[in-house]
Amino acid sequence: MKTAAVMAEVVEPGLCCGCGICVAACPRGNLVMGWNAIGELNPHADDLCPDSCTVCRSVCPYVADAETADPLAAERFAAIPGVHRSRHLGYYLKCWAGYSKTSNQRANGASGGLLTWLLEELLRTGAVDGVLCVAPTPGRGHSLFQFVACRTAEEVRRCSRSAYYPVEPGTLLREIMKLPDGRYAITALPCVCKALRRAQRRLPRFRERIAYVLGLACGKNNSCFHVEAICAATGGNPQQMEKAVFRVKSARHAVADFAARIVSRAPDGTEVDRTVHWHEPGGQGIWWGPRYFTPLACDLCDDMFAECADAVFMDAWLPEYKDWEGTNLVAVRHPKLRDVFEDAAADFCQLRPIAARRVELSQRTALTSKRGSLPERARIAKQAGLPVVSLRLETCKGFCRAGGRRLVRTQWALARASGRRWAECAGDLEKFRTAMRPWASAEAAAKRRCRSLRWLTLLLHPERWLETLCRIGRRPAPR
Ligand SMILES: Cc1cc2nc3c(=O)[nH]c(=O)nc-3n(C[C@H](O)[C@H](O)[C@H](O)COP(=O)(O)OP(=O)(O)OC[C@H]3O[C@@H](n4cnc5c(N)ncnc54)[C@H](O)[C@@H]3O)c2cc1C
Ligand code: SF4
Ligand code: SF4
Ligand code: SF4
Repeated sequence: MKTAAVMAEVVEPGLCCGCGICVAACPRGNLVMGWNAIGELNPHADDLCPDSCTVCRSVCPYVADAETADPLAAERFAAIPGVHRSRHLGYYLKCWAGYSKTSNQRANGASGGLLTWLLEELLRTGAVDGVLCVAPTPGRGHSLFQFVACRTAEEVRRCSRSAYYPVEPGTLLREIMKLPDGRYAITALPCVCKALRRAQRRLPRFRERIAYVLGLACGKNNSCFHVEAICAATGGNPQQMEKAVFRVKSARHAVADFAARIVSRAPDGTEVDRTVHWHEPGGQGIWWGPRYFTPLACDLCDDMFAECADAVFMDAWLPEYKDWEGTNLVAVRHPKLRDVFEDAAADFCQLRPIAARRVELSQRTALTSKRGSLPERARIAKQAGLPVVSLRLETCKGFCRAGGRRLVRTQWALARASGRRWAECAGDLEKFRTAMRPWASAEAAAKRRCRSLRWLTLLLHPERWLETLCRIGRRPAPR
């Protein structure tokens, strides 16, 4: 007997992305997901395992010998007639920009509500029996979000918006895999999509039960300390949080300046309900930009566009889509999903075809942070002796910034230190700020240096001028 394969190889070095697919796949039910000391979800093993068992490592996207998203995506999409491939976006049949016109899906959606529309449409037409997505779980003393199985449009609608929070579908999928029948669509971040495809390769039950994997583009995620820090910084009580809502929109704020609403309970029992926009003091922006509370797995991730998913949904971060109500970009890879959009969308959605190049351009900032910084992060990880998963470093060229290496190193150190320090400070924001001062100052100085060398970056990369020109001068999107 031995300890679970993924524990020593992935969880103990801190590389686990918390996808939970090992938990769903384990034939003996040996693994259970739980919170670790730095606010991330990880599996832990309840029992010893047979020496011959390798199921969990064969589905895990973070074992060192896991393939990249390329072969997994190619297996699924390369032979589809009419499919195209783009350097960052991966395979796609068609891309659109738009939003849902159905009820208040757009108003309640993270971007344009197209993903909620598609989930409801798949349910309505009987293409799936259920939808696995993320619901807020109000109440004290447990996770603020979790995966749930929805069987009605109302249930799907309650799950709108983005959860910038650790969530894992593994525990729910373990139950779904025990059911005698049923086909499901699941919403998933790129790392989860990859784990699901690895599981589908190995385990027939995953192939039978999961009909559609619907990806969310992902710059990065955070540990649960992220929402605690926002709560503390806006006068709430991070020890007694009851509810978090991300992506709250407002006509008085630019579309990218969305808000987080955090409800907590003060020690005297009164409710503290705070809404803070991205750029306001204490808002998400101050934690997100310097990469506070970023899991190690996110620092070693090369997939922005959920390349293994049947479709990927994201924000239209382009100048022609400034409408505060939000607009999606969607790239579809599965022919049936393309047909769903083409057939039904004219009545229920506002859609406009868009070139893959512009879809990639819309994520330029996140790509610079994700792929542009990856070679340096891979170097740091190697120096630290971490068993790093295969990364497509060849796709990372063309993002480098003068002064960028120092910035990456300071942000890496800040991300690691912030998890440990927040845990030590137990929600005391002032103590945390004092403890983090050396890392915060180093990061701010590295960022200033990067900004002051921007002219050098532009001189070395004349193509960036062209990109800037491409970003402007577009006519406004149709309403
Ligand atoms: C951690 C994270 C990082 C992201 N990074 C980027 C980025 O860098 N650039 C970008 O353009 N877009 C990013 N997105 C995607 C973006 O926030 C929207 O989710 C996407 O545009 C879909 O918008 P929508 O209006 O169609 O979704 P909605 O109609 O609001 O539907 C969203 C669906 O996704 C589900 N969901 C929410 N959170 C999660 C989660 N964590 N895991 C699985 N399912 C979830 C919900 O339950 C809901 O069913 C990110 C999302 C997350 C969760
Ligand atoms: S899949 Fe196999 S090795 Fe992994 S935890 Fe389960 S029994 Fe152990
Ligand atoms: S399968 Fe997912 S949850 Fe399990 S160890 Fe690997 S990364 Fe972590
Ligand atoms: S950055 Fe990568 S590892 Fe992190 S949540 Fe997104 S897809 Fe997963």
